[in-house]
Amino acid sequence: MTAGTVHLIDHPLVQHKLSLLRKKTTSVNSFTRLLDEVSALMAYELTRDMPMHTVEIETPLATMASRLIDGKKIVLVPILRAGLGFLTGMRSVVPGARVGHIGLYRDPKTLGAVEYYFKMPSGMRERDAIVLDPMLATGNSAIAAVDRLKQCRPRSIRYVCLLTCPEGLGNFHRQHPDVPVYTAAIDDGLNEHGYIVPGLGDAGDRLFGTR
Ligand code: URA
Repeated sequence: MTAGTVHLIDHPLVQHKLSLLRKKTTSVNSFTRLLDEVSALMAYELTRDMPMHTVEIETPLATMASRLIDGKKIVLVPILRAGLGFLTGMRSVVPGARVGHIGLYRDPKTLGAVEYYFKMPSGMRERDAIVLDPMLATGNSAIAAVDRLKQCRPRSIRYVCLLTCPEGLGNFHRQHPDVPVYTAAIDDGLNEHGYIVPGLGDAGDRLFGTR
């Protein structure tokens, strides 16, 4: 059992696109477009309880008090490189968001996360961070990314992935029970190489056409 919160986004549009992303015959081009679309749809759930402020606006007929999200307070944090696949879709919905990057690679022997890049916008203490990585597999990169991000003390942290599995969620929430995870599916488990099964393969390779 994990102590942390998990939001399973099971909207039919998300699930439909996820099935197409999983298919091994889906081309790089289609994979990229589908990931853009699915991440824009997931942003809808992710931002559901974002703080809002009230401003006075004028409609053609009257003045009224109306509510806005402060998009500039949101920082999207893709974990390089597959996390970049979530960026276009999320930014299409929250165009004011700032973007920070965390570069991690997975040591193929130990499956441990090794950091090679970290750059955040200023004023992190007033920002709500959304960490992006399509696959929360062993949880090692997710844990390392959030460990590092917490050093900047953002106001809040959410973690969004497309797929995860019970082991990854358990590992992640043991270290970071305060960080909610948003995902479109919780798959069966991991294989001996640390890949999610049935999964969709290597998200970075499928996105960038590398292998
Ligand atoms: N990273 C991927 O891209 N795919 C997996 O299944 C696990 C980690």
